[in-house]
Amino acid sequence: MSREDSYRDRSVLIHGKFRSEKWDFQDHIIPPITTAVTFRLRSAERGAEGFQQFANPDIDRSTATPIYIYDRLDEPCQGLLEETLAFSEKGECAVSFATGMAAIAAAIGIHVQQGDQIIYHPAIYGCTHGHITNWLSRYGITHESINFNDIEGLEKIITPSTRVLYFETPSNPTMELVDIEAVTSLVKRLNQDRKEDRKIVTVIDNTFASPYAQRPIEMGVDFVVHSLTKHIGGFGATMGGVVIGPSSSETSLLLYRKDFGGSLSPDAAWHILTYGVPTLAVRMESQEKSAQRVAEFLDLHNKVSRVAYPGLDSFPQKELARKQMRDIDGDFAPGAMIYFEMKGNPQQSYDRAVQMINHLAQNSLSITLAVSLGQIRTLVEHPASMTHSVVPPEDQLKAGISPGGIRLSLGIEDVRDILRDLESALAAAK
Ligand SMILES: *Cc1c(COP(=O)(O)O)cnc(C)c1O
Repeated sequence: MSREDSYRDRSVLIHGKFRSEKWDFQDHIIPPITTAVTFRLRSAERGAEGFQQFANPDIDRSTATPIYIYDRLDEPCQGLLEETLAFSEKGECAVSFATGMAAIAAAIGIHVQQGDQIIYHPAIYGCTHGHITNWLSRYGITHESINFNDIEGLEKIITPSTRVLYFETPSNPTMELVDIEAVTSLVKRLNQDRKEDRKIVTVIDNTFASPYAQRPIEMGVDFVVHSLTKHIGGFGATMGGVVIGPSSSETSLLLYRKDFGGSLSPDAAWHILTYGVPTLAVRMESQEKSAQRVAEFLDLHNKVSRVAYPGLDSFPQKELARKQMRDIDGDFAPGAMIYFEMKGNPQQSYDRAVQMINHLAQNSLSITLAVSLGQIRTLVEHPASMTHSVVPPEDQLKAGISPGGIRLSLGIEDVRDILRDLESALAAAK
């Protein structure tokens, strides 16, 4: 057992590993950002050793002292961040990327080749959908989509060529949940008859919940991906992504990153490591408290037809939410994201959503009209005309996105200000 294993998650997220091999500036409390793209190798032998060590499956990256060569391959702030992120999700290893999308591309990319099939839950991040359907399909990687809560249906469409099951929970923007353990137990059963290199791999995008509120690897998922741009980065100042999974995948992930080039910049890694990860728990706690208050307020409002927030009694999957959304202390953690719909027929509800959002955009200090989520600032957006506008209207409805739906990401402002600004914006929706 390593030293940090006897401490609570909250403390380790602040300090990282008690002793890390990733840097040797032992007297710095905060690691320096190195702006050197390339590293002095001192001798031909050491240079050769560095190349021989990189992405070498026989070397345990968690204990070996790295020989840094070039920033696209590996770099100290990235390494420190990766150690802490692996810990946060209880995964064996983590490899960081320049953005969430670069991480998602890698998590899928290391597993598939021509002829393989990906099956995904319909409500996934738009660019992930684009990556699978627009780009991977060009290389002969096929795809199929089905609601992952239909476990029997899912089992029926799995074929010998199925290689990756990809999903998000809660999904964006509707907050619909997928039963993680139902999916992983199906996969476990089907994998009993499959050869090692044909096993079905589960990949989950845990960006919405963050590791504070949900740790899917503990529920049997193989790979977790995150957009570090969101809750983990937390301040909306840097982009980043990470793949967390078994150490047997570390070599492939590092080689994929090296050859596709989506490496996280040292500066971004440093910001996420210094500001984002250490404050994840306090930010999430505060945001979640506000989300609960705001969801209860919206739930009772006469201009709102429906509120989807896992912490509400009216949430259709509240049992499942209580089972799988747990914070780092084991308590129920419904998260900081809310989806709600304005009343009226499709046209009316659309118009009301736009009126409300325009009122917020022009008058509200506490709520900002902007895409993205998981920041200290409360953000609002209208999925039907913004983040999900590329999804055809009939597919929007299939994914549960209504014309009058609004997505809210709670920040750390005083919740009384958020409630007051929402109240006047709702009054402005005719
Ligand atoms: C933002 C986001 C992504 C993509 O992350 P980037 O850092 O913008 O590339 C992927 N999945 C979810 C759920 C997201 O919210």
